[in-house]
Amino acid sequence: MTVRPCSRCGKNESANRKGKPGRCVECIDAIYRALKVDPEGTFVSPGAPRNYRCQTCGRPGVIPYKEIQSRSVELCDWCVGRRMYEDGLARDPEHWLMDQSDVDRMVREAGFEMVDGSGRTLPESQMVSRIGEVWESIDVVCVLCAAPNTFNAVHILSSSSKPWTHCYACFTSKFAGWQNEFYGKFALC
Ligand SMILES: [Zn+2]
Ligand SMILES: [Zn+2]
Ligand SMILES: [Zn+2]
Repeated sequence: MTVRPCSRCGKNESANRKGKPGRCVECIDAIYRALKVDPEGTFVSPGAPRNYRCQTCGRPGVIPYKEIQSRSVELCDWCVGRRMYEDGLARDPEHWLMDQSDVDRMVREAGFEMVDGSGRTLPESQMVSRIGEVWESIDVVCVLCAAPNTFNAVHILSSSSKPWTHCYACFTSKFAGWQNEFYGKFALC
């Protein structure tokens, strides 16, 4: 088997198997650290899920190296959400100030219901108390199509998208519907 040096540091062996060029494990780990997380466990392959822990808040996460190669935004969703919220609050408190019951209302207005870890809908009385910080992502399902979605109030406040774009599955099928109509009308297919 050909041994290739790391494409970045040139010192260690490429972590890619089959003699393909690529970075060494040390340089791969450095990419995780640059995104403000510490990689954990042994590197298996570029596509294999890798555990990490946020350097700022200590929360764990999982992502393969392949998906972060060209990323520049820090990895921890929780910390990114918190910073977006704090920045928003400092800029425009009237738009951004919210508490857990506001988040609960926003979830419903977007056409979602909160679910527990195994995907079961939570009783209405339990929903607000399940919300942690207002900038956290929440597991939800769409009330129309039951597709699982991730809801984040901070993303909603920072975007100008219309309510029907909130469910990924409904948006995709609606978009597909428009396409069919469009192509049908102009006999393009
Ligand atoms: Zn290297
Ligand atoms: Zn974090
Ligand atoms: Zn839906």
